[in-house]
Amino acid sequence: MNCPHCSSLITSAQPVCPQCGFSAAAIRGYLGSDWVRLARITDNAQLLSLKHSRHLETVLDDFERRFPQCFMAAYVGALPDNLTLPDLGFWLINHGAFHTHQISRRNDFGIVLIMDPVRQQASFTLGYGLESILKETFLTQILKKLQPLLRKGSFASAIETAVTLIEKELRSAARREPRQLDQPPSIIGDASDLGLHTLRQPTRPLLHAPKAH
Ligand SMILES: [Zn+2]
Repeated sequence: MNCPHCSSLITSAQPVCPQCGFSAAAIRGYLGSDWVRLARITDNAQLLSLKHSRHLETVLDDFERRFPQCFMAAYVGALPDNLTLPDLGFWLINHGAFHTHQISRRNDFGIVLIMDPVRQQASFTLGYGLESILKETFLTQILKKLQPLLRKGSFASAIETAVTLIEKELRSAARREPRQLDQPPSIIGDASDLGLHTLRQPTRPLLHAPKAH
């Protein structure tokens, strides 16, 4: 896992980034340490039409059929000032149970795309298993392509564009190094077995304000 602030390598055993002092505990203090069930699409800003949401479900169905070990979750919502997009991505990868149909996959092959309609920013966070496959430079290129769509407010197109480009990259990675994507998915059963909560409902803010000290 890379530090969401400076991209240095940090491990889950390390509570603080050795390079910049980023603290995973501080993020947990803010967002909590409960696990949440992570839907494929969380539209906290309520910017996706029903038609677009349904279309994206089929796009993501296709994606998961082609890459059964991978899971992509898109989050659209305005973040509070003191939280960066990579912070939320980091937290979701660490506390989100990717859930689809009857199986939950471990987050090693998870991809979280976060888009903030107010800041007009987007950010990717990857699980460990994908970090060597989807490189930083490649993700930066995608984010550049998403910029005009974010400015237009075309979040559904932005998600679909991201899925299409990631699929293409995974396909060529599978051709280059077939063994990397050969690992079977880690199935941990239905997420409801784990007593997971769904992400908060769109009508309520996802993030609670920090506690006053
Ligand atoms: Zn750092």
